Amino acid sequence: MNETPTVTLLGAGPGDPELLTLKAVKALRRATVALVDDLVHPGVLRYLRRSARVLHVGKRGGCPSTPQAFIHRLMVAEARRGERVVRIKGGDPFVFGRGGEECEALRAAGIGVEVIGGLTAGIAAPAALGIPVTDRRWTRGVALVTGHAGTEGGSEPDWAALARSGLTLVVYMGVARLPFIVRALRDAGLADYTPAAVICHAHTADQRQALCTLGILQHTVAQQGLGSPAILVIGDVVQAAPAWQALGQGTTGSQAARC
Ligand code: SAH
Repeated sequence: MNETPTVTLLGAGPGDPELLTLKAVKALRRATVALVDDLVHPGVLRYLRRSARVLHVGKRGGCPSTPQAFIHRLMVAEARRGERVVRIKGGDPFVFGRGGEECEALRAAGIGVEVIGGLTAGIAAPAALGIPVTDRRWTRGVALVTGHAGTEGGSEPDWAALARSGLTLVVYMGVARLPFIVRALRDAGLADYTPAAVICHAHTADQRQALCTLGILQHTVAQQGLGSPAILVIGDVVQAAPAWQALGQGTTGSQAARC
């Protein structure tokens, strides 16, 4: 039995289990119960003991999913029973992962929380193509935003302000609303020739990607059948990708590439 009931909120990274931190692996080895999200790579579960109970509590957007309140109650109940609970999330638990809400619910129930960060898809997916999202030659920083309005209880990002910000835009959950997002950015004056990248299933065997420009982003995604989970990167830093340079594209290029 645990002395103080504690739940470990663990970020498993975007895919490849080799991207787990050592701390995450240690926590997985200790756990007796694991509550697992949809986007967690199955290979991550190999680090659990054979005897650990695995409960899949996915929350994939648009699909029937386990209510958040039920997940909270389950974590609390298992921790109170003396189980060593790990809550495994894709990427980082605090980046569009409801980690904040879960911490709050656990603390309110008198349960201790340990948070183990993970590589977030918004940084790791572009990195898989050699895109440094804050490259100082092109940008002052990066904005991580959701394309799925209402996610995390939040409202629509201010696309017009983002378009004018000079920041690299990294959009999570953006594919389904791509026409709306692209229109909002273009209406606010973001140039059609702004470089863009789409990376789906990054760091998995199913990874696919395309490099293009904002003006043809929607067409490229549709034509190549790129779908969720995907990260969109919009900004000049995309030019740093070796695949972009191999195309000989400047920022005025308009040719779509599948790398
Ligand atoms: N906490 C996660 C994000 C969860 S929201 C993190 O930090 O990465 C789910 C969204 O993350 C997906 O819709 C997609 O936009 C993005 N995502 C997660 N894993 C991904 C992957 N392997 N490749 C591309 N995008 C991914």
